[in-house]
Amino acid sequence: MTGRGVRRFERLWLGTDPAQRLRLRQTSLAMALMALCAPMLHYCVAISGGERGALLWVWTAVSLGGMGAFYAAIRSGWSRRLADPSLTTAQIAFAITSAAFGYAQAGALRGAVFPVLNLILMFGMFQLRARSANALCLFALVLFAFVMGVMATLAPAAYPPSVEVGHFLMLACMLPAVAVLTARLSRIRRRLSQQKQDLARALAQLQAIATRDELTGLPNRRQMQALMDQELQRSQRHGHAFCVAILDLDHFKDVNDTHGHAVGDTVLRAVAEVGQAALRASDVLARWGGEEFLVLLPDTAMPLALVGMERLRQQIGAQALPAPTDGAPLRVTVSIGLTDHRPGDALADTLERADRLLYEAKHQGRDRTCTD
Ligand code: GH3
Ligand code: MG
Ligand code: MG
Repeated sequence: MTGRGVRRFERLWLGTDPAQRLRLRQTSLAMALMALCAPMLHYCVAISGGERGALLWVWTAVSLGGMGAFYAAIRSGWSRRLADPSLTTAQIAFAITSAAFGYAQAGALRGAVFPVLNLILMFGMFQLRARSANALCLFALVLFAFVMGVMATLAPAAYPPSVEVGHFLMLACMLPAVAVLTARLSRIRRRLSQQKQDLARALAQLQAIATRDELTGLPNRRQMQALMDQELQRSQRHGHAFCVAILDLDHFKDVNDTHGHAVGDTVLRAVAEVGQAALRASDVLARWGGEEFLVLLPDTAMPLALVGMERLRQQIGAQALPAPTDGAPLRVTVSIGLTDHRPGDALADTLERADRLLYEAKHQGRDRTCTD
């Protein structure tokens, strides 16, 4: 089969949902093991001089059919309604039962069932909580004790009681060890998943710190630079225009000097909030530094950009903040330098032009937008 053929078969067999694929991979492996164990048991029965009768064929059909039913229950999505959609506990309990009935038929080679039993329990090591693993080990011990007792009673020639006691003692040592190891692995898994969550949270915090301005919550200078680079690439690819505006608060030093730095900070936050509300969802307002803000108007040409910036300027100017010193409302105005990015220009050229226009707006008396 070609690589593409294998992938198509895999998609058909396992589906596309990653969680389901993991469950079905595990179940497919269990099915493959069962498919190998079935002929092995037939071989054991044959060389032990036993008769490969109806019971053995019933065992074969039920064991293989049962694993097929688990696959179908998961693949069809039916098991999603259950607490454990992977059906791990049920699959292991089923396989233990199948192994115990296999043990009753294997005759002289029945010792071969023990490594298989170990393998079955190993499937649980990667998924089960300690409590389920303990219950399954206890179930295996009780079931095998029962089967050994029955066989020693019904067929003492092939299953001598002294040998069965030896086998039972071996299981009584092995199964608790498996349970302890599973519990340890379960603890390690829990710790790893906790660490993964902590790391994801820390990464999200770091990303916020790296891209947001702490005072206003707006994108910071670095993030805005990245957004403008992206917009430049988009505009080069699709040939659309975009505009950039620099805002600077007028006489902001006076606000600080009169009311204090804390009030100045409140004003900056208020400007950020009003500014963001005044812009379209696709526009980006960022804190460029100090009391300067930058607006990116993606996919926007000049006349429309000017309308947007004038709306922004008027809404900031109309916003009143109560000043704590004399109680009179505090108003701030902004001056804006607005320009469009021109094909072939570097971003730095565009920003320099916007800065020059801002200077012109200040020079003309502030509280206005200048364009070229
Ligand atoms: P102009 O109209 O010419 O822009 O006058 P201005 O007073 O706004 O200009 P200037 O550049 O002289 O002053 C900017 C002030 O902004 C000075 C600085 O203390 C203040 N500032 C910068 N960053 C912050 C900040 O994070 N918080 C506060 N409260 N003030 C800040
Ligand atoms: Mg300034
Ligand atoms: Mg200023």
